[in-house]
Amino acid sequence: MTIERVGIVGAGQMGNGIAHVFALAGYDVLMSDISQDALDRARALIDRNLERQVGRDLITADAKADAMGRIAGTLTLSDLGPTDLIIEAATERETVKAAIFEDLLPHLKPDTILTSNTSSISITRLAARTDRPEKFMGFHFMNPVPIMQLVELIRGIATDEQTFKACQEVVARLGKTSTASEDFPGFIVNRILMPMINEAIYTLYEGVGGVKSIDTSLKLGANHPMGPLELADFIGLDTCLAIMNVLHDGLADTKYRPCPLLTKYVEAGWLGRKTKRGFYDYRGDGDPVPTR
Ligand code: NAD
Repeated sequence: MTIERVGIVGAGQMGNGIAHVFALAGYDVLMSDISQDALDRARALIDRNLERQVGRDLITADAKADAMGRIAGTLTLSDLGPTDLIIEAATERETVKAAIFEDLLPHLKPDTILTSNTSSISITRLAARTDRPEKFMGFHFMNPVPIMQLVELIRGIATDEQTFKACQEVVARLGKTSTASEDFPGFIVNRILMPMINEAIYTLYEGVGGVKSIDTSLKLGANHPMGPLELADFIGLDTCLAIMNVLHDGLADTKYRPCPLLTKYVEAGWLGRKTKRGFYDYRGDGDPVPTR
């Protein structure tokens, strides 16, 4: 199974990064979105991010030009029909993803591999709605895609070994590292990371330490590059809450209950960096100011 042409559904935060790394690795990339604006913004962002890599001597100007030449965009989902591998990176809503796969199916080649970049939706359930559950799996990139080294590959219950191996080879060609995960809530990274962040928020909620003490403790005491609260602000507190709810509902264990303080911040619209306020206040010109 040779993979040369890759279709990406959704040109948002993740989709543009995914297109960037595939084009740089020599794949032909077709990005689809429902919004022309999203496609235009993705292209401009990829151009800017590649230019930054040229500026840092990580890639040559020719490599950048080649990569940009390999990326095309479309508003017509069925244009992705002739691709060998599809990575769905659209809005994190199961009805949206299910409709995308349903619309794609009649146009696909029989051996096209279907994958989803979902952080929290069951791969097995998405796969079951397609005509090829054995050729369906999770392809979970981390944000920001061009920088983060890991791709979690997730096997649905029906995923066959040939499909898994083909995706492993793709990740290697991207110059990234893959891990293998079974299809359970949160996969590996979020299953471990989110309860740690949630526990840091409980530590704050119960007054064991302030924001700065908690982050400094984990940075200097556990050698983490970022403190858990700083990281939560970076990920987005709404996303953290949504993932805790997936773990809580999917694993039915009270150890995954979201901290009430996390819920409170989300209710306040304090979602982290993207709203300029979370566990830190980013509205000033200087260093972010802890909110507790
Ligand atoms: P985003 O909101 O930035 O982008 C989603 C894009 O999908 C938008 O451009 C939207 O117009 C498009 N879209 C919506 N419906 C569509 C349709 N029917 N057809 C084509 N395009 C459609 O979201 P994101 O942060 O890029 O997340 C995308 C996926 O990646 C989600 O499944 C998310 O769980 C997963 N993910 C996100 C992160 C992260 O840190 N943001 C990390 C890992 C995985």
